[in-house]
Amino acid sequence: MEQQSLWEATANERKERQALQGEQHCDVVVIGGGFSGLSTAYHLQRKNCQTIILEKESVGFGASGRNGGEVLTGYIGSMELHAKKKGLEAARQMWQLSLDSIDLIEHIINTHQISCAFRRNGDFHAAYKPSHLDGMKREQEVMERDFDYKKIKVVEKQDLHSELNTPFYHGGRVDESSAHFHPLNYALGLAEAVEEMGGTIYEQSEALSYRKESGKVVVNTNKGRVIAKELVIVTNAYSGDFQKTIKKTIVPVESIMIATEPLSEELCQDLIKHDRAVSDTKNLLYYFRLTADHRLAFGGSGRSSSKRDQENLFNNLRAGMITVFPQLKNAQVDYRWGGKVGFTQEMLPYMGQLEDGSYYAFGFAGHGAAMSSMAGKLIAKNILHEGGGDNPLEKARLRPIPFHSQHAKAVGMMKFYMKFRDRIS
Ligand SMILES: Cc1cc2nc3c(=O)[nH]c(=O)nc-3n(C[C@H](O)[C@H](O)[C@H](O)COP(=O)(O)OP(=O)(O)OC[C@H]3O[C@@H](n4cnc5c(N)ncnc54)[C@H](O)[C@@H]3O)c2cc1C
Repeated sequence: MEQQSLWEATANERKERQALQGEQHCDVVVIGGGFSGLSTAYHLQRKNCQTIILEKESVGFGASGRNGGEVLTGYIGSMELHAKKKGLEAARQMWQLSLDSIDLIEHIINTHQISCAFRRNGDFHAAYKPSHLDGMKREQEVMERDFDYKKIKVVEKQDLHSELNTPFYHGGRVDESSAHFHPLNYALGLAEAVEEMGGTIYEQSEALSYRKESGKVVVNTNKGRVIAKELVIVTNAYSGDFQKTIKKTIVPVESIMIATEPLSEELCQDLIKHDRAVSDTKNLLYYFRLTADHRLAFGGSGRSSSKRDQENLFNNLRAGMITVFPQLKNAQVDYRWGGKVGFTQEMLPYMGQLEDGSYYAFGFAGHGAAMSSMAGKLIAKNILHEGGGDNPLEKARLRPIPFHSQHAKAVGMMKFYMKFRDRIS
């Protein structure tokens, strides 16, 4: 069985990129070559703002090249809950931002003809318990009434077969605006678009430290340095010691995925009827979708540092897949992989500027396939003084997590996450 991700194995041709050597100058230096960093550079370069990305491994190495590729509307938690916490007007802005983020991705893909199997077929959120379906019915009403959003349709348990061929769930809801794509190919295409517009990406170039002096920022790697006017830090769940406040504020939570061997077209159409991105309301959720080469990619929570536990987690995930779809009991699993999802204490992304003026965006909590591209655009707008900074996510105060070790943070966060999910479903 392959240990690399399905996305890596089926990626479009990768360009060779150099590591940073010596001294380079630019307007903006971006740390992190995931969706957030690439989108920031993309939107800056469009306005001829000279940008350098430093990526410690290669483009898409982090969550952007490993995720389920489910490009979803919204955030963790219902918009009703966000309206209660932030006010209805703020929640409306947040909702619109999430819709705009998918339009933005679609626009970028079409403009640059990025071959990444983007399909805007909507998503299906499957109800794990009958009470979760009740929550979805309420959500649909609230979305129509308070958000003027009519693209959510509730599916009763007896009609579940119109969406999924499984007895496992108690119905669910469709949101027609969501999409799915090959995440790594989107990242690689976006990187090429950045370079076509004159931006530079250095790979194998870990940013080790930075200092601000005379209105400039100097970022050091082990073989060189970049001197720029502005610094953007978008290292999300892969943040190391480069910026301590960000490191303390983000909680990396492991998520793992498997992908089956190619299945027949008939079986694919039978499993997920309309080729939607699917996720469920289980505390430790499952998320799954079909791929362009007719596999089922199936994800869930959890990763361990011990090799044996790790093996068990993958076996459990496969068992979970078969519980949902017993039809797959003989399907071989060809790929398995994992990565880190970034959470914040509020379960919402943080975007803004640190006290030293550096820009950041992180903590998309399993909704970053859509929102991180928008975050990059907003960072670019702020840097270019084009009127960013006025959405509720940019106004949130950074709240470092009050746990001491990374492990305690992740465990604490999972518990918090489970409670949070209970409250929303
Ligand atoms: C297994 C998995 C499944 C997921 N599924 C979904 C999904 O289906 N839908 C969804 O919406 N979201 C999903 N997510 C989350 C989503 O992938 C992320 O929210 C999104 O990719 C975040 O993008 P980013 O650019 O902010 O961070 P990343 O893609 O993680 O990029 C950060 C980059 O920074 C680099 N870096 C870190 N430190 C340094 C340094 N000092 N110097 C240079 N470079 C550095 C890293 O190497 C990395 O490439 C999933 C995540 C995982 C792991």
